[in-house]
This record gives sequence, structure tokens and C-alpha cells, in this order.
Amino acid sequence: MEVKAADVGLLQSRYRLTKQRAAVLRALSGGGHLSAEGILHRVREEIPAVSLGTIYRTLEILRAIGLVQAFTHGGDAARYEAALDKHHHLLCSQCRHVLNVHAPELARIVYEVASAENFDQVDYSLTIVGRCARCATAARTVSNN
Ligand SMILES: [Zn+2]
Ligand SMILES: [Zn+2]
Repeated sequence: MEVKAADVGLLQSRYRLTKQRAAVLRALSGGGHLSAEGILHRVREEIPAVSLGTIYRTLEILRAIGLVQAFTHGGDAARYEAALDKHHHLLCSQCRHVLNVHAPELARIVYEVASAENFDQVDYSLTIVGRCARCATAARTVSNN
């Protein structure tokens, strides 16, 4: 189930990452899904003068290289992560926590559905919305009081 996070040191030498790009990747190295504001907050610990505009531009470059992926659902602001491999998401409808999951069985269904309508160049991502274990436990605790 583990989704590999990017090794910032390795990537920095391979892609000759600037200080800002490396700092953004480091902010994401915990495996979280952070908003641009959340990334800004962390990067400012390294580079105090950095602006939100710079964070957005840096994220776009890192996405173009393929080092950062964006996750959005409904009207939520985009959240970013440093993940290299394809994966899917569980999203908690209450606390908005996002969990990475793999669903390898999904590929067969997707390609069956797409090819039945003669679609090629198929891409897909699955977001399963539900209530996380922590929120379910909290709800039970409240109702027991
Ligand atoms: Zn939750
Ligand atoms: Zn993810």
C-alpha cells in the first residue's frame, strides 16, 4: 500500500533543482497532500522571503517535470504531493484527510469501459469519499456521552 515519496537529494542532483524547487519538494517529503498555502508556510522556514506566487510557479514547473502531482476534489483547493507513481485517493468527507491507495485491479475495468467506446489515450483517477477511522471513532465517542 505504501506509495513511494521522492528522494529530494537524488532528484536535486538529477534535475539540477534550484533552491526553491528543492525546498518545495522537502516541504512535501513527509508524504502529505498540502495546499499551496501549507507549502508556503513550510518553505518560509528555509526561505523567509518566498511569495505564494513563487510557490505556484514552482509547483507548475515541478508538475511539468513529473515530480509533483496535484489532487483536487469538488470545490476543494488543489493539494500537492511529491509522488512519482500512479495512485488513487481516499478522502474523508469530515476532516478532508487524504490517504494514498493503490487499486491495480481498476486498470482492467477502466480499459474495458474506455475501449467499448473506442477511447484511447486513457487516463483515470479514483477518489473514494468516506469517513476516516479517526472521525468515525470521534463520532462514536460523542454519541456515547
Ligand atoms: Zn476524517
Ligand atoms: Zn496522493
